[in-house]
Amino acid sequence: MHILVSGAGIAGLACAIQLGTRGHDVTVVEYGRGLRLRGTPIDIRGDAIATVDGMGLLARIRRHRVDMSERTWFVDSAGERVAPLPLAQINDSADDIELLREDLVRVLADALPDTAAIRFGDSIAALIDGGADGVEVRFASGRTGRYDLVVGADGQHSAVRGLVFGPEEEYTRHLGAYFALADLPGEARAEGANAVYNVPGRMAGVFRYGGGAVAVFQFRSDPVDHDHRDLDAQKRILLDAFAGHRSWRIPELLDAARADPGLYFAAASQIHLPSWHRGRVVLVGDAGYCPAFLSGRGTSLALTGARFLAEELHRSGGDHAAALARYEARQRPYAASAQSRADSGRDRMLPPTWAAIAARNAALRAAAAKAP
Ligand SMILES: Cc1cc2nc3c(=O)[nH]c(=O)nc-3n(C[C@H](O)[C@H](O)[C@H](O)COP(=O)(O)OP(=O)(O)OC[C@H]3O[C@@H](n4cnc5c(N)ncnc54)[C@H](O)[C@@H]3O)c2cc1C
Repeated sequence: MHILVSGAGIAGLACAIQLGTRGHDVTVVEYGRGLRLRGTPIDIRGDAIATVDGMGLLARIRRHRVDMSERTWFVDSAGERVAPLPLAQINDSADDIELLREDLVRVLADALPDTAAIRFGDSIAALIDGGADGVEVRFASGRTGRYDLVVGADGQHSAVRGLVFGPEEEYTRHLGAYFALADLPGEARAEGANAVYNVPGRMAGVFRYGGGAVAVFQFRSDPVDHDHRDLDAQKRILLDAFAGHRSWRIPELLDAARADPGLYFAAASQIHLPSWHRGRVVLVGDAGYCPAFLSGRGTSLALTGARFLAEELHRSGGDHAAALARYEARQRPYAASAQSRADSGRDRMLPPTWAAIAARNAALRAAAAKAP
């Protein structure tokens, strides 16, 4: 099949490998000018570990393993450690692999077979599903093409989903929080302890990894209407959320966010669609079933989704409708489980009051004292 994949993130690259190695001819269009490497460490958990093993990448991925979560502590306003992260609650098992998002993106991109190619700086502008004739695609660059299958792997704000399934608002469930990540160029480059500091409904943190450091922010908020590509608007939302908070290192971290031309900003929102495929178009990863960063499972979902899609297309003998239905049936339980974990992630990271912060810290200390 000639397959077009929109997005060269985790889902898109995994699809390109899984589909390309099964003999399909795969084009990936990525609207960024290159691979988008930013991001805190992400986790590969559960069946996603067997999935990367099946791709022949487990050893390479393990070589990039980091232990950022083990080195992360909740701190008080003086920077003193007050509680550890509850890893037993967060992780599936000790086999989970934490690695830098950029390392995973690079490992996947390096593993692309000859049958798959990425075209940067372009995106799908329009598509018409002509049934047996395939999908006719017009790109933002003015190019056109015809494909047997189009895969929307273009993330939380998927353009493919918008074109085929309708406006994002119909499928978005806001979880009442936002996330931002800014470079912290002045921070000591040594690998040290990572700190997370809470004020009610907000957290600011400093994470060090890969020889660099980032400032991380999460905060509770009702949805704030803005264009998700408007960096200035995103910075304003972040600065407003922390207005008046000057304890610990908050002012300095906000300065770093203000200065960062590549600030990453995301809503904690999930995508819930009644079906992830329509005709010859299918969604994989955050585009179809974003579980929100608070779940810690978006990357694992992207990896299993790409695998199930490719396996089912392979098994279907050309019956793409049957393959897409089976892909969805296999992936649904994983997506539902990941999405069900996000609320507890928010409540753990963002206690709404000082009393709730103190209670969380006391509970974590007690649990850590009891741990073997
Ligand atoms: C720069 C970046 C930083 C991130 N940082 C974190 C983090 O710190 N913590 C966390 O939990 N999650 C983070 N994520 C999200 C996380 O990678 C995903 O939730 C998860 O890995 C699922 O991957 P995905 O491929 O479905 O989505 P993504 O990893 O978001 O990948 C989507 C890809 O599609 C591209 N794209 C978007 N729109 C279009 C379009 N119209 N046409 C073509 N391409 C398009 C994007 O540039 C991106 O490369 C980040 C994502 C990105 C892109």
